[in-house]
Amino acid sequence: MSILVTGGAGYIGSHTCVELLNAGQDIIILDNFSNSKEESLNRIRKITGKDFKFYKVDLLDKNGIENIFAENSIDSVIHFAGLKAVGESVSKPIEYYTNNISGSLNLFELMKKYNVKKLVFSSSATVYGDPKKVPITEDMPLSTTNPYGTTKLFIEQILKDLYVSDNSWAISILRYFNPIGAHESGLIGEDPQGIPNNLMPFISKVAIGKLEKLTVFGNDYNTHDGTGVRDYIHVVDLSKGHLKALEKLNKEQKGIFIHNLGTGTGYSVLDMINAFEKVNNIKINYVISSRRPGDIAACFADPTKAQMELNWKAEKNIEDMCRDSWNFEQKNPKGL
Ligand code: NAD
Ligand code: UDP
Repeated sequence: MSILVTGGAGYIGSHTCVELLNAGQDIIILDNFSNSKEESLNRIRKITGKDFKFYKVDLLDKNGIENIFAENSIDSVIHFAGLKAVGESVSKPIEYYTNNISGSLNLFELMKKYNVKKLVFSSSATVYGDPKKVPITEDMPLSTTNPYGTTKLFIEQILKDLYVSDNSWAISILRYFNPIGAHESGLIGEDPQGIPNNLMPFISKVAIGKLEKLTVFGNDYNTHDGTGVRDYIHVVDLSKGHLKALEKLNKEQKGIFIHNLGTGTGYSVLDMINAFEKVNNIKINYVISSRRPGDIAACFADPTKAQMELNWKAEKNIEDMCRDSWNFEQKNPKGL
């Protein structure tokens, strides 16, 4: 029996595939490379010394997905595939709703048809909107401020409705906070196309000299130093959370479970710059500018539920994250 990993060539997917293969699981990867490269698959093989089946299929291609279910014996699905750039989702809402929601619906429909009812879904802390308090617990109100976030909220709702309609499903919804870092080998990591939107890839590009300086978006927030606070989590810790979520589904056999995957600690933009400079012994040029529209002051998880129910806890610290991000950047200055 195999685990189908959609979006397995991407940033979080590739790290999770490494963990799955190292744990002796059989995996099948589906990806359309819209935001990743085939090289990522070679790197997964190189790190693990193991092979797997790959299908270059778009989730909008129902026949393509059906073919995978028909040809293989699939036990569960980890669903990473989706478009994820917040800003782009504002300018391309139709593409985001179509890709993320229609793509997910196609997948769920075929899972149902082939009686594959175990699913781990990549959601995001963005579903908490502008949280009334931090740390954030899973029962806090949900809202979104952009089409990307709305796709996550809609898919969560679709999964809740699906479970109500047929409670033989076993569904894990994982709400990620801010994944950064890379595999310690430096062979896989975040490989954004063009100018990065997120803080850590931007810092790495400034460090390597590809970008002149970082713009810090606002220092007038109600946080310890005025800059935005987030819960940065090492991508390897995050990936391990997926194996724990699958274990839970295999144990429970049915149910719908929602967990935050974060460290529980918030770091500001200036904290991140300082940590990166210190651990890597390199200077980061930056300027302070105005706030980025849509940004919130602080967002960090209460990870207690995942600790209690999944027996999972983030283990790597901010130094590990900064060191591994820089290691990946240096080893792959041109990307994968
Ligand atoms: P990523 O872009 O690196 O990986 C997503 C993968 O899905 C890519 O390889 C892409 O080619 C593939 N893909 C996209 N649309 C597809 C389609 N229609 N058919 C087939 N493949 C398709 O992103 P990531 O950072 O690894 O994120 C993985 C998941 O986690 C996404 O659903 C994302 O929304 C979610 N998430 C990410 C973050 C983050 O900060 N990285 C935070 C919260 C949630
Ligand atoms: N940020 C910044 N400059 C950048 C990118 C991000 O100051 O070039 C800040 C941003 O305002 C936020 C934090 O870094 O406070 C994390 O931003 P990111 O886009 O990585 O994550 P998100 O805001 O989606 O949680």
